[in-house]
Amino acid sequence: MEKLYVELESKSENESLARVIVTAFAARLNPTLEEVSDIKTAVSEAVTNAVIHGYENGEGIIKLICEIDRDYIIVSIRDEGVGIEDIEKAKEPLFTTREADERSGMGFAFMEIFMDELYVESEPGKGTTVLMKKKIGIGE
Ligand code: ATP
Ligand code: MG
Repeated sequence: MEKLYVELESKSENESLARVIVTAFAARLNPTLEEVSDIKTAVSEAVTNAVIHGYENGEGIIKLICEIDRDYIIVSIRDEGVGIEDIEKAKEPLFTTREADERSGMGFAFMEIFMDELYVESEPGKGTTVLMKKKIGIGE
């Protein structure tokens, strides 16, 4: 088992940095281009959510943990922001609390589609943790 811990400031510039970090770490599992693209999409969605919803575009720290366990990549993204009232509802496709900002409510749906497993833990006022797992090398 190998593990990487990174703390990022909550800023939209760090969405692409988080993508690059996770992709570079996952490279040791020899993912296909499609797997890389799936991981990038899922990480972007989770980090974007931490920045715009969790910290409401203000200051904060996003904790990113990447783990490799055999042929699995496990990514966890944690913010100590506002938290989510109703997680099941938030995960529904097309559900958004930010219609005015032209959000489509598809972030969690993409994380669910592009990764094998998705777990969301959240408490209003305390923050949110998104944990995603994907098996790499299915194409081989
Ligand atoms: P899109 O991702 O398509 O731009 P969205 O961000 O609203 O739209 P989701 O990513 O599916 O859609 O998230 C659904 C809802 O869950 C959000 O509108 C928000 O209310 C809540 N949410 C998601 N992540 C967080 C978070 N880290 N902290 C607080 N609320 C969150
Ligand atoms: Mg989103």
